[in-house]
Amino acid sequence: MIQIKTSEEIALMRSAGLIVADALAAMRAAVAPGVSTQDLDAIAERVIRDAGAVPSFLGYRGFPKTVCASINDEIVHGIPSRKRVLAQGDVISLDCGAIYHGYHGDSAISVAVGAVAPEVVALLAVTEASMWAGLSRALVGGRLTDISHAVEASVRSHSHPYGIVDHYGGHGIGTEMHQDPHVLNFGRPGRGPRLVPGLCLAIEPMVTLGDPATVELDDGWTVVTKDGSFAAHFEHTVAITADGPLITTAHDGGRAGLTEYDVSVAI
Ligand code: MG
Ligand code: MG
Repeated sequence: MIQIKTSEEIALMRSAGLIVADALAAMRAAVAPGVSTQDLDAIAERVIRDAGAVPSFLGYRGFPKTVCASINDEIVHGIPSRKRVLAQGDVISLDCGAIYHGYHGDSAISVAVGAVAPEVVALLAVTEASMWAGLSRALVGGRLTDISHAVEASVRSHSHPYGIVDHYGGHGIGTEMHQDPHVLNFGRPGRGPRLVPGLCLAIEPMVTLGDPATVELDDGWTVVTKDGSFAAHFEHTVAITADGPLITTAHDGGRAGLTEYDVSVAI
């Protein structure tokens, strides 16, 4: 069922989103060679709990940690561990969620560890830009697949044949982390549910340098590229409002990320 929020509920979504933004910012600042993914997990959990919120991933279908930390060919759902230590040249996707007064924020960043290969720098930029292209279509009066199409068109606007992971996607979000509708990262525009004020979505493209086929590891969680190519993942939660998209998980509400698009941003 699609959940439509009141403005009071969106304010709580915003509070949850800002806590997630703080947790991701703290982890980003700590990313360096020699740091373990467990170290980053502990940082996020402290930020979330100090803010009076609860980590939403912890215990979700048995997931044992606060964040998903996915390195290089790992796309999503990597489990933090003391044994996973970052090295120069790695790329790490950090995905994090929090619940505040019953409402969820969900956001992810991919971060280079020190200097990385130029094609990996490009992969990160392309993936993040495709997320913003999708978010820019979170507009009242549009349709759900306008977002999907914008993500795909953005990825496809580059000459390199990037892969778009099609097995996973974005989702509705509110009093649960994962709600209807599922948001594909590709497809034709103008289809699916109408975008109305109070609909909140997590938009999360996963893009690969090589083939987008995926494999789930024996830990039951970690999703990797079948061909071993690097992957990137970015995610924000957006509340659709009559005043424009409000990116609940961006400190600035999405103003900077949406500057190049002709949309007013609710903030
Ligand atoms: Mg997420
Ligand atoms: Mg999500």
